[in-house]
Amino acid sequence: SVRVRYAPSPTGYQHIGGARTALFNYFFARSQGGKFLLRVEDTDQERTFDLAMQDLYDTMQWLGIAWDEGPVVGGDKGPYIQSERKELYQSYAKKLIDEGKAYYCYCTSGRLDRIRKIQEQNSLPPGYDRHCRNLSEEELAEAKATGVAPVVRLKTPLTGSVMVHDTILGDISRDAKDINPDVILLKSDGMPTYHLANVIDDHLMEITHVLRAQEWVPSAPVHKLIYEAFGWQMPQLCHLPMVMGSDGQKLSKRHGATSVKDFIAKGYLPEALTNYISLLGWSYDDSREFFTKEELEQLFKLERINKAPAVFDYKKLDWFNGQYIRKLSPEEFFARVEPFLSRPIKGQNDAGEEIILEEALFSSQPDTEQLNLIKRALPMVQERITFLNEVGGMLRFLLVRPEIYPVADALPKGLTREQLLDILAKVKPMIADFMAHEDEINEQKMRDFATTEGIKIGALLQPLRVAVTGSKVSPPLFGSIRLLGSEETLLRLDNLIA
Ligand code: GLU
Repeated sequence: SVRVRYAPSPTGYQHIGGARTALFNYFFARSQGGKFLLRVEDTDQERTFDLAMQDLYDTMQWLGIAWDEGPVVGGDKGPYIQSERKELYQSYAKKLIDEGKAYYCYCTSGRLDRIRKIQEQNSLPPGYDRHCRNLSEEELAEAKATGVAPVVRLKTPLTGSVMVHDTILGDISRDAKDINPDVILLKSDGMPTYHLANVIDDHLMEITHVLRAQEWVPSAPVHKLIYEAFGWQMPQLCHLPMVMGSDGQKLSKRHGATSVKDFIAKGYLPEALTNYISLLGWSYDDSREFFTKEELEQLFKLERINKAPAVFDYKKLDWFNGQYIRKLSPEEFFARVEPFLSRPIKGQNDAGEEIILEEALFSSQPDTEQLNLIKRALPMVQERITFLNEVGGMLRFLLVRPEIYPVADALPKGLTREQLLDILAKVKPMIADFMAHEDEINEQKMRDFATTEGIKIGALLQPLRVAVTGSKVSPPLFGSIRLLGSEETLLRLDNLIA
């Protein structure tokens, strides 16, 4: 039965491309009734990043991806963190040495540097010159005596070619001369390289399919050689198409957020991001776009993965997010929005430092009255926002009386300041009476009044909106006035006039 894995290296925050790999593996496992494993490939200790593990767990939890085997949950093929499997890799490397398929290499970094320079100067292909591959007993004893900690290298073929098959890309053939000569399996500190650990673990963990990004295609022939050296069968390979920005370049920070944590902070819904990501190089029938996670767990098929690069379209994702926000029930919407109300909005200044762009709506525990007011206002914003983090800013006027009015904003075209003040003074009785009428009645009254004054309805509503909300762009005006009440609205009107 199907067994797949997501095998991130904890060298940074989870990237959107990694989330795609995780989700595709997860959907494939679920659709096949198979198992999804999480494995942490942390053998490059120098590049290991402290916050990466927590970020990995947070990401998986947020996306709703539960792993059947892996760290925390365990499983009978563990441990699932590679740094805890060091001895195992060493014993397998030893086995290859004993069988004459790998060897110790004592070349110093000084020697390797010299070879590299000579190769560069003579425009020769880079790579190890296989110096230690055929040392005599004597030479070996001498090399050992130098005290240099050896690496273990695989004897890669000198001629011929290596062929791997990829479910998506078809056959991939690589000339032996184009493969990193005698690639390192074990580093001098006893840690395995990615290649060795990845192959051993995929084998021992009985992985049937390897779904990973296309950037790993060059590793596949090397892995094939390692599988052959051990006499193991290679899992089925499925390299996922690249994810590009709209300019055709590999997706990076230049294009927008790329870390899952940044998407979370901005207020994307996991269901929207999951849905959007599922379409990055996969399609169900070339037309259907909306899928719940549960549907994807049923419908995902390897055969529908594309070869061609996928373009990450932020606008499209944002549109999805808005659509998913509209679909939430009022209770659900409140539950999603609530954490954002007590979080400031962060961004970066020109120097790239993190700064607070907007204070949290609630800097301390809100009282029930405030919370209720916000709750009542939510239906007005649910229809308009694209991101959950917009709500605090949009509704701040309900809790905080706007102090500084952009007077220029309040003044409609074609009116003098005096005319405006005069009109606003005349509108006050209508506001005083506001709560006694339905919105339609109030609107009709305002329209009639505007007609009498000979101005456009917009020229009346715009200053009113600025007075009430402090901004030209706001949730619906009448709804806002109703939430604030006549008294507070009149006070704000007076503030504008004053
Ligand atoms: N540790 C590799 C990564 O960071 C895993 C690649 C693979 O799936 O083989 O993506």
